[in-house]
Amino acid sequence: MVLADLGSRLRGALSSVDSASEDEINSMVKNICTALLESDVNIKLVVKLRDNIKAKVKSELKENETSANKRKKLQKIIYDELCGLVDSHEEPPKPKKISQTKSQASTKVINGKKTKVVKSTGANSHIIMLVGLQGAGKTTSCTKLAVWYKKRGYKVGLVCADTFRAGAFDQLKQNAIKSNIPFYGNYHLTDPVQIAHMGVSTFKAEKFDIIIVDTSGRHRQEQSLFDEMVQISEMIKPTQTIMVMDGSIGQAAEPQAKAFKESSDFGSIILTKMDGHAKGGGAISAVAATHTPIVFIGTGEHVNDFETFKPTTFISKLLGIGDIQSLIEHVQSLDLQNDENHKQTMDNIKEGKFTLRDLQNQMNNFLKMGPLTNIASMIPGLSNIMSQVGEEETSKKIKNMIYIMDSMTQKELDSDGRIFTKEPSRIIRIAQGSGCSAAEIEMVLQQHRMMGSMAKSAMAASGGAPGGLPGN
Ligand code: GDP
Repeated sequence: MVLADLGSRLRGALSSVDSASEDEINSMVKNICTALLESDVNIKLVVKLRDNIKAKVKSELKENETSANKRKKLQKIIYDELCGLVDSHEEPPKPKKISQTKSQASTKVINGKKTKVVKSTGANSHIIMLVGLQGAGKTTSCTKLAVWYKKRGYKVGLVCADTFRAGAFDQLKQNAIKSNIPFYGNYHLTDPVQIAHMGVSTFKAEKFDIIIVDTSGRHRQEQSLFDEMVQISEMIKPTQTIMVMDGSIGQAAEPQAKAFKESSDFGSIILTKMDGHAKGGGAISAVAATHTPIVFIGTGEHVNDFETFKPTTFISKLLGIGDIQSLIEHVQSLDLQNDENHKQTMDNIKEGKFTLRDLQNQMNNFLKMGPLTNIASMIPGLSNIMSQVGEEETSKKIKNMIYIMDSMTQKELDSDGRIFTKEPSRIIRIAQGSGCSAAEIEMVLQQHRMMGSMAKSAMAASGGAPGGLPGN
């Protein structure tokens, strides 16, 4: 899990607050700041965060309030401040699907003859150029990015313009073949600018939606590397330049990001190797300080170990809150327009309803997305369990949730769950059918209730608000 240690320390600090006395709050703020500093978050940012929290506590928490209310407000303050810490407030560009746009044809009379005129839609391929130092994870991220977009219905091609590192083309080629992504490279040419140009032109002519270009890296930041980046960029005119940065380098991220920004003027960042590395906080806060959005984070070596980065989602996961909003958005981003179950779930959510079948649908959709633990971090209650019992046990729990829901009748699935309180014998029947204990079924029902109320609050907040903080 990303920054597992930082997450458990932040959760520990928050849950240590009981009566919300001044002493308790001060010690919580101190613990949060220490945890952030130890995961390498920039000291100036931590000091600012501490001051902001203290000021908000002073203005928002009232003397005569109940402790429960104070705790709720405190959670919201911490959540907002942490989101502010990792938010660049910039939006990366969104690619269009040009391969599916039809040219507009009409008939005109030209020189007395009826002639069919095809009007171009004017749409161009979205060209993404990846830059970064050697070993940062560029080539791996190229394939991850291509697979991510392909799963969402985009026509994607990969170009290997890395002629510096021996074997770079073979690596990209192997990854591309495994993931069934068209690729372009050349063993004989040594000029990366020429290869990039040829690859991009080939895919452009075939109306690819997205063309991803992998460029060379060097061990150190050298002028020759930056010169090459500029030349390729001038030739292929990328729509989006993404810097790939090793997330484990901590505070060194900031000078590195600045040096690349000057020469390649990248507009987005992919942070790699965020799988459990303690120093990840440094890279995240440093790049947020350069006002460049992190678009994805790499969380392992496998092609599916790749997550979109949204400050609210990231902090929700870190705090173990679970995030119904990102669950919904994640599923919405899949190509599910023709999926009847999905349509029904979206209609229900719009009405503020969330049945057990909706939970089942969402989980089935997520199974299409890769590692089960990605799902866990979005489900309230499961993210905490994951940090306590580990990924294997969590995967088992998720599979059990699916078996449990598969053992429910149609009536039960379409219900809001109250049917089980009225007729508890149903729980015994499901336990027998699914091979799970009654306690496990109670847990699924409890999670469903939490998600249902989050769905309601997400809708009430008209979409913009975070998925909701856990109620007390
Ligand atoms: P490049 O030189 O920038 O193209 O880097 P590569 O893509 O060849 O990656 C360098 C190493 O980092 C390889 O061993 C990758 O498997 C590994 N790697 C890349 N991304 C991640 C990640 O998100 N997590 C982990 N643990 N390893 C990664």
